[in-house]
Amino acid sequence: MPRYRKDCPFCPGNEEMTPAASLELTDEARAKWSIRAFPNRYAVLTPNPEAPSAQSDDRLVRLPARGVHEVIVESPLHNRFPDRRTPEEFVGLIRAYQLRSAAAMALPGVAYALVFKNHGAGAGTSLVHPHSQIIATPVLPARAERTAQRADEHWRDTGRCLTCEVADGELTSGNRVVLTTDNFAVVEPFAAGQPAETWIMPIAHATPFVTMEIETINEFAGVLQTTLRLVSECFGDPDYNYALHQEPPDETACRCQHWYLQVLPRLKEPAGFELGSGMAINTLSPEVAAERMRGPLGGRGAVIPPQGKDV
Ligand code: UDP
Ligand code: ZN
Repeated sequence: MPRYRKDCPFCPGNEEMTPAASLELTDEARAKWSIRAFPNRYAVLTPNPEAPSAQSDDRLVRLPARGVHEVIVESPLHNRFPDRRTPEEFVGLIRAYQLRSAAAMALPGVAYALVFKNHGAGAGTSLVHPHSQIIATPVLPARAERTAQRADEHWRDTGRCLTCEVADGELTSGNRVVLTTDNFAVVEPFAAGQPAETWIMPIAHATPFVTMEIETINEFAGVLQTTLRLVSECFGDPDYNYALHQEPPDETACRCQHWYLQVLPRLKEPAGFELGSGMAINTLSPEVAAERMRGPLGGRGAVIPPQGKDV
């Protein structure tokens, strides 16, 4: 894979092939951008959508396709895949996720922002140049809505944050834990929906993702880098998606849940039953997956030191 492609819209020098940047983080050593975000050319949602076409059946609900859809190019280098990066590059990427999520969620009519990455053709990538995307929606996506409902019920029943409770339960069980640092746990969650599904969770109740401070960003950068390396090393370099599940941007939600990042390796395609029922069949128990991922770390619950430096 070359470092640069003349025909790649995400390579430096081809900026005119994409809309004006919404964010450029610069690499001072080279006085060029190191991360660049811009509106997606084929956006599924836009800030100023057309009105939905008239409908003859008022039982059907239509909404304007209002929201934000951006691309975040993760590196100027066409072949700088996550497993080749330094922790500092991950720090910049996390900052970009924070800044663009915060900007999207501040827009009127936006209820939620989902940051996600498709890595590899089997995970939906159409352009190879490493990039993430952010889609901000006018309603809570179904998963976020269900989490919000359950977190709210749990708060009312117990007075505890649901995500804290899940992280605590995983650390107590221990056999699905891949690694821990001061502030994060990497786990194969209980009843994982698919093989090697991996969550990076703040251990203690976290502030909203967008306000995470630099020391914690540094630590998270090291954890994200290590997690992606372990997934790739232990499961044959699979294609994968990840999704950042932020807390919805209101104070009530922030009290009873907090953010986590879900990595979904594409080791098995959902088939008829999964698609038809919405239920999961997982062919690899999370306990076995966790044991496999602890292997390169030399055993159970290994601790990696925080990496990265102030930016
Ligand atoms: N894209 C863009 N400008 C271009 C070419 C592509 O914004 O000049 C977008 C495209 O719409 C797509 C994304 O870049 O959403 C590439 O994402 P990915 O490879 O993950 O594939 P997707 O499944 O989103 O098409
Ligand atoms: Zn490129």
